[in-house]
Amino acid sequence: MSSDTIFGKIIRREIPADIVYEDDLCLAFRDVNPQAPTHILVVPKEHLESAQAMGPEQRELVGHLVYVANQVAAKDGIAERGYRLVFNVGVDGGLTVPHLHLHVIGGRPLTWPPG
Ligand code: AMP
Repeated sequence: MSSDTIFGKIIRREIPADIVYEDDLCLAFRDVNPQAPTHILVVPKEHLESAQAMGPEQRELVGHLVYVANQVAAKDGIAERGYRLVFNVGVDGGLTVPHLHLHVIGGRPLTWPPG
């Protein structure tokens, strides 16, 4: 089941998004406020609040999100130079939309550590 968050609305096509990939388990779309030339969110259709909420039954799903993230990165042409995959968790982790999502960020050199 999808959620009442903004991402649930995108999954149900109640609001628009720039969708780059979809399958039975997830959707990938461009972040509306991109932090780099490529900034895509990979979002499971099933609602989980964050990576912290995953149980053993979601291990395959979360692996699938990483697999899809690598596919969309390759399709955007950033696989060779590299990119960053990020799950924000909780308040200190910077989670703002409580529906699990994997950020795919790249297309420019990224600094580390994060702020
Ligand atoms: P997080 O801080 O990890 O919860 O990330 C949420 C991300 O969702 C942010 O990078 C936002 O820019 C992005 N976002 C919020 N609303 C939308 C939207 N309607 N379409 C695409 N991305 C969005």
